Amino acid sequence: MKSIVDVTNLKVEEMIGMNFECQCGKNHIVEINSVKIGRNIIEQLPEFLDEFKNRKILIVQDIHTYAVAGKMTEEILKNDFSLKKYVFPQEHLLPDVYALGRVLIELEDDTELILGIGSGVINDICRYVAYRAHVPYAIVCTAPSMDGYASVVSPLITDGFKESHKAIYPYGIYADIEIMKNAPMYLLCSGLGDVLGKYTALADWSIANLLTGEYYCKTIADMVQAAVDKCVSAAPRIPERNDEVVKNITEALVLSGITIGMAGCSRPASGSEHHIAHGWEIMFHTRSSEEKWVHGNFVGVGTVVMAMLFEELKDIDIDSVMAKKSFRYYDMNKWRQNIESVFVKVAGNVINYKKDAMELNPDKRLENAEKIAANWKEILHIGQVMVPSSDNVKKILKDGGCVWHPEELGIDKNLFIKTFIAAKDIRTRYGVVHLIDDLGLTVEFANLIADKLYKSNIVLG
Ligand SMILES: [Zn+2]
Ligand SMILES: [Zn+2]
Repeated sequence: MKSIVDVTNLKVEEMIGMNFECQCGKNHIVEINSVKIGRNIIEQLPEFLDEFKNRKILIVQDIHTYAVAGKMTEEILKNDFSLKKYVFPQEHLLPDVYALGRVLIELEDDTELILGIGSGVINDICRYVAYRAHVPYAIVCTAPSMDGYASVVSPLITDGFKESHKAIYPYGIYADIEIMKNAPMYLLCSGLGDVLGKYTALADWSIANLLTGEYYCKTIADMVQAAVDKCVSAAPRIPERNDEVVKNITEALVLSGITIGMAGCSRPASGSEHHIAHGWEIMFHTRSSEEKWVHGNFVGVGTVVMAMLFEELKDIDIDSVMAKKSFRYYDMNKWRQNIESVFVKVAGNVINYKKDAMELNPDKRLENAEKIAANWKEILHIGQVMVPSSDNVKKILKDGGCVWHPEELGIDKNLFIKTFIAAKDIRTRYGVVHLIDDLGLTVEFANLIADKLYKSNIVLG
């Protein structure tokens, strides 16, 4: 097996079936049969799915995706394949146990492929059912809205709590740019937001590697960075629904998904910006099922917030934090109250998820803080090198015609403070939100960032 020196500039299509020994010590394997991104991809589906000819395919879609791509797919495949279709009737389909069960009921013994037609939710549902039923699945993408197409996990909602579940790589990813570019604008923005989140995700990963010795792969980080940069330079042309831009975003999203499988964890794709975004998603799910925004919209705003936090780090007087040692004692009552006030019905799930991971021993807390202090310069360096300024992140989102401020998501200042505090409780994967918590600064920074975000003279848009 030869070691590939530079994989950072490979096109997504060239990465398929890749198997190489990396400097990080892992053997990176991409077990996807094909990724096709371009114009008129749908017409070529019979060729891509050749090995399933005359066999049964279950097509899963919702009313919207049936209209934009499902009907056409059916026409194109019906002569050579045995098709069965299911169309979810819901206006707002959720990736929950009911949706999973519905697909399972449609899945007949002789089904040889599940073909999803949609984006985030349909993809997550099909991937998980396919994994548990030992049937391959492929996806016809309808929007460049999130990085889950090539991923190996499905975030699913159980008991109101959204958690990632292990699943499989898709057999194929088919992204027809003609369809993707006509997706609703908030979905195109969602894709941009999910891509932007990689800046802070990679910085978190690097910090975790520094402080906890967690596995890190520079090759993967460089691959993601290159894809994000390419996507960002194209972002201002999103409102034009430009072919090239939509292709760049789609490629960056698929690549990001692939790197999750390569790394064996979601580190290259998800950090503190995703923690706060997941918190917002969970919170809105519990309050109403009619939310307007989707995953990447939350992540984009979360990236602005976390870029602000990275900026604030340089003003911390680490010597005085270490002299005061106020981080040694943790107020569990306040911690619990905050989670309860944000997540109401599902607060118990969040508390149970996090409580065993809390470090309450004052000596251990001192040890953790000392480790941070000892690596302080390097931490600041990571933030400066890897994370763009928050003004820059804002500008990228604004120029793309996308939401960037929590208020646009329906989060007022008070709620923002609480959700910022709770971001560290959504996932235990170490990042900048855990770092400031180890220093006892979470509440202080929640207020500081809220003050800056919600200035009285704020002009949105
Ligand atoms: Zn590697
Ligand atoms: Zn994401």
